[in-house]
Amino acid sequence: MQSTFDHWDLPFFDAEHKELAVSLDLWCAKQVVDETDDRRACLQWVSLLAKSGWLKYCVPAEYGGKLKNLDSRSLVIVREILSQYSALADFSFAMQGLGSGAITLAGTQIQKSTYLDDVSTGKKIAAFALSEEGAGSDVAAMSTIATQTNDGFVLNGDKTWISNGGLADFYVVFCKTSQDQGSRGISAFIVDADTEGLDSSEHLQVMSPHPLAKLKFTNCRVKSSQLLGNLNGGFKLAMQTLDIFRASVAGAALGMARRALWEARSYASTREMFDQKLIDFQISQANLGQMLSLVDSSALLTYRSAWYRDIQMNTNTLQEDQKKEQLKKYSQLAAVAKLTATENAQKVIDMSLQMHGGKGVLVGQKIESLYRDIRALRIYEGASEVQQLIIGRSLI
Ligand SMILES: Cc1cc2nc3c(=O)[nH]c(=O)nc-3n(C[C@H](O)[C@H](O)[C@H](O)COP(=O)(O)OP(=O)(O)OC[C@H]3O[C@@H](n4cnc5c(N)ncnc54)[C@H](O)[C@@H]3O)c2cc1C
Repeated sequence: MQSTFDHWDLPFFDAEHKELAVSLDLWCAKQVVDETDDRRACLQWVSLLAKSGWLKYCVPAEYGGKLKNLDSRSLVIVREILSQYSALADFSFAMQGLGSGAITLAGTQIQKSTYLDDVSTGKKIAAFALSEEGAGSDVAAMSTIATQTNDGFVLNGDKTWISNGGLADFYVVFCKTSQDQGSRGISAFIVDADTEGLDSSEHLQVMSPHPLAKLKFTNCRVKSSQLLGNLNGGFKLAMQTLDIFRASVAGAALGMARRALWEARSYASTREMFDQKLIDFQISQANLGQMLSLVDSSALLTYRSAWYRDIQMNTNTLQEDQKKEQLKKYSQLAAVAKLTATENAQKVIDMSLQMHGGKGVLVGQKIESLYRDIRALRIYEGASEVQQLIIGRSLI
């Protein structure tokens, strides 16, 4: 995809990041996937992304990954580029990272070697199961429970909105393990898809193709070895996982906005009206100028938050309280990036669609699918209002 300027030369990035961006862009341009069936398309994307080594950015080097640690800038770059071509390609990549992220952060050696290598080679498809009908933004209100037994836990309850539901080989599931402790009573478990008592057959259809399902747990038994991280440490683990990937949601929104801008410029350059091209009207030029300004501000904030996290991760000399301060700062920067990039992308895509006239709403046009694809990004992994709260609270 033609960029408006070479943003990979910005000081946020190293030479390896630029190389990643350029080679992934070339690769994407050659891929052809029939996306009429979203589930089949996701399986194909996972297989293609694995074969060419792109999924290696979802796990650390010790377990089949490309880089020593998860690198936020690489995640942002991959999602920005994939989403310019296909929302499902981006989704397939993102879920391998988000679904395995908690294992990378808190898994035992055995858990990591059982799951992470297979995530990077596409042998196992990952999913992250936090939300429930009555607990979306308010995660602590969840009611799925895990009751401790002699040799493990028994899970009962329902999850909803689970991406890769019904496709995944394993789910990282968050449950209440202590009823009266709110967010301090939640634990995480790795539940293999074929575990007895887990039903993922109820699929959900949404406006933009995206494999989603409800999960029902009925006396679903898991061994103690499937507990992920500390007992009752699940809420913190979920938030840490979401924090890592929040900047990458901004990256995906940015990619969609870049594509919409490119589509607007191309269309306006060829569309004839009133004896000239649409792009010759000053109002079109002003709109394109506004769209590029929105894209650029999203880009700078997205890259800043990813860069800040990477720098933090590579600084070993800090005291505990300094690290805590930095993490707080990162949460603020990632929230600013997610809020701005998703809201700006919605605006840019809408402006681009408007420039396409009737063709903009014609099914099969790229701008029509972008208009549907962008919408959920303002809701999942923390709705815009939740990001506003995170940012506001960080100022108090
Ligand atoms: C396409 C898609 C994929 C998803 N994938 C996953 C997944 O893989 N795993 C998973 O666990 N979940 C997933 N989700 C769920 C998603 O994280 C939730 O939808 C999200 O957290 C919002 O929860 P909710 O839908 O229950 O909305 P609610 O929590 O009911 O919020 C409704 C609205 O209220 C507003 N709001 C929220 N908080 C506040 C506040 N404090 N003050 C004022 N207004 C507020 C927001 O506008 C919000 O959109 C997915 C959702 C979608 C749409």
